[in-house]
This record gives sequence, structure tokens and C-alpha cells, in this order.
Amino acid sequence: MMGRDQRFVADAMLGKLAKWLRILGFDTEYRFLRSDIQIKEYLKDGRIVITRNRKWTRIEGVVCLESNHLESQIAELCRLIKIDIDDDRFFTRCPHCNIELVRIEREDAYGHVPDYILNTASEFSTCPSCRRIFWPGSHISRMSEKIEELKRIIKRGG
Ligand SMILES: [Zn+2]
Repeated sequence: MMGRDQRFVADAMLGKLAKWLRILGFDTEYRFLRSDIQIKEYLKDGRIVITRNRKWTRIEGVVCLESNHLESQIAELCRLIKIDIDDDRFFTRCPHCNIELVRIEREDAYGHVPDYILNTASEFSTCPSCRRIFWPGSHISRMSEKIEELKRIIKRGG
């Protein structure tokens, strides 16, 4: 299964993990899991259900993490299931809305990004939901170090 096909739902208290799975390109819903029915719907829909709440482990297919911290959560996740990452998918999804970003023209970014960015960035994209504008330097410079760290964890399988 390719990375693009792995989809997740992250339970309450896993907001940071959800955000980073999105940054890595995975369709990841962030929901407070409340019932067996709800969880089974997600599983039926093909999502990998991740929680920190032990009571949901009674449902087959639910992945339960123990750690409080992003890096060790990613490591735990990789020990429990195989994560297929695809570098081409990084930064293709809004970290806030879980929606795929769409490319926009430079002139559409005018007024929404600093002038020097408008002049120097090679491409721009936006989230159709929150309308935030992204460009390679906007998130990649801030996040690439973290991405590299998470990639190392994932590639060694936890
Ligand atoms: Zn958004």
C-alpha cells in the first residue's frame, strides 16, 4: 500500500501527531473518539484509528499509543504498523484543515505574503478551506528539520 493510500483518524490528545501526519501527506482526521460505532465506521472506511485511550483496544484494528511526545508517538506507530512515506506528498495538505492544497498564481498571493516572498518564492499554494497561503520557504524551512527527524524514525521502523 502506498503512502497516499494510508489514511488515519487521530483521537483527542493526538492533535500534534495528526498535524504532522498531514504535513507528511497523510489524510488524517482529528476527532474525539466517543463510541464503538464511530470507531468501526472509521475502520470500515479504511482509516487507521490511532488513540491513547486503552479502552478502545478492545476493538480490533485500533492502534493504541502510550507516549506523550510526537517523536516517540511516531516511533511507536512505526513499530505497530508499517508507514509508507512518500517524499512527493510532503506539504501537499493543510496541517490545520487536512485538505489538499491547490496551486495558485503568483498574483493571487499578492497582498497575502510579504513582498520579498512574492518576488522570490517559486510557487504558491493555498488551502481551499482556511485560505492560508503556503510557499516552499514558508513551511519547509521551519519544518524540514522535523521532517528529516520523523523520516529517520519511520525509515528505521520505529
Ligand atoms: Zn487550511
